[in-house]
Amino acid sequence: MVQPQNPHAVTRDGRAPVSPAAVPAGAGNPSLAAAVDRRTVVGALWRAEGERVRCVACGHRCLISAGRRGVCKVRFNEGGRLRVPFGYVAGLQCDPVEKKPFFHVLPGSEALTFGMLGCDFHCAYCQNWVTSQALRDAAASTRVHPITPEQLVAAAGREGAKLVVSSYNEPLITAEWAVAVFAAARGAGLECAVVSNGNATPEALEFLAPWIGAYKVDLKGFNDQRYRSLGGTLAQVTETIRQLRARGLWLEVVTLVVPGFNDSEAELRALAQFLVSVDPDIPWHVTAFHPDYRMTDPPATTVTALCRAAELGAAAGLRFVYAGNLPGRVGEWENTRCPNCGATVIERHGYLIRQYRLGPRGECPRCQRTLPGRWSSPGAATVPGDDGRRAEPHRQPRPVQC
Ligand code: SF4
Repeated sequence: MVQPQNPHAVTRDGRAPVSPAAVPAGAGNPSLAAAVDRRTVVGALWRAEGERVRCVACGHRCLISAGRRGVCKVRFNEGGRLRVPFGYVAGLQCDPVEKKPFFHVLPGSEALTFGMLGCDFHCAYCQNWVTSQALRDAAASTRVHPITPEQLVAAAGREGAKLVVSSYNEPLITAEWAVAVFAAARGAGLECAVVSNGNATPEALEFLAPWIGAYKVDLKGFNDQRYRSLGGTLAQVTETIRQLRARGLWLEVVTLVVPGFNDSEAELRALAQFLVSVDPDIPWHVTAFHPDYRMTDPPATTVTALCRAAELGAAAGLRFVYAGNLPGRVGEWENTRCPNCGATVIERHGYLIRQYRLGPRGECPRCQRTLPGRWSSPGAATVPGDDGRRAEPHRQPRPVQC
């Protein structure tokens, strides 16, 4: 997806200049909003409360009067029923699964990744703001492409993808469409996953869980005040992480390390200790910030700072810590090592897998300990390089025609 130049003023504190909840839908692009409104159906994740409807798709739990919208701007009350996005994509791309990032889910696979429009957060450093903030921000010009779940699955087949992933905008706010796509994808033997901010509800997780094998949560720090500046709360996201683990879904967590925003040692250590308290086997990816969208003031994260964050995670007791966005510059932090014997079992360079040494069920070749992850899918007997040979390099992320 091509992004226009960032036209926004510099902010340092992570606070968007305008409160999204105060902006009517279509403030950014009225014709786009009208096109999105036409591509809706009556949703599943809501209930009537008198004249109003209560949306339960995300942690905001908006109570929406007739003719009004939720915080995300894409779900609205029409005649006492909640209409939700359905039947289009705003972004469609085939990515290495490592780009999501999932490092313990079908390594080396292609992931057909789709996104719609809108978000329930308004992060000043959003790297997908053209789609996530399209209904709030006049600078975010994009288009929607009508498509069916069957057409998406056919595209996955053409691209050789083993996964179908909902990303680029917040999947929770478009969960009904994601489930329709995932149901078709599962029928074709594909694995399904979401890349989410974690502002979930038990109802949304119950709705999604039968159709997905993996969930990535963006844990944006460990300070509730900062979280509120992004549009959420820390407690809602940490509860989502607990619930995902309790449900047995494969979970990986990502934290973008932003200088001056969430990179103090105390905060990163507290975050890692929380993850350890849930499960020390949760892979934690710390990734490097670069100035983007409305947050152009802080400098990019340095190699030293990123490796220090990874060290804090490992010292806290996490068994799988990765440093991302700086390929070839973070040493062993790109690789997977056996927590039992220390052998390097997957060697990476960015999205590329250089060596893959795990057995078909994730066994370490040296000590035979089985590493946690989803190493094979229902429709796949092998994964690239699982015989120990050098795996074929990934193709780079590439747009897919609708
Ligand atoms: S998805 Fe979240 S933000 Fe959108 S209407 Fe529902 S509760 Fe509100």
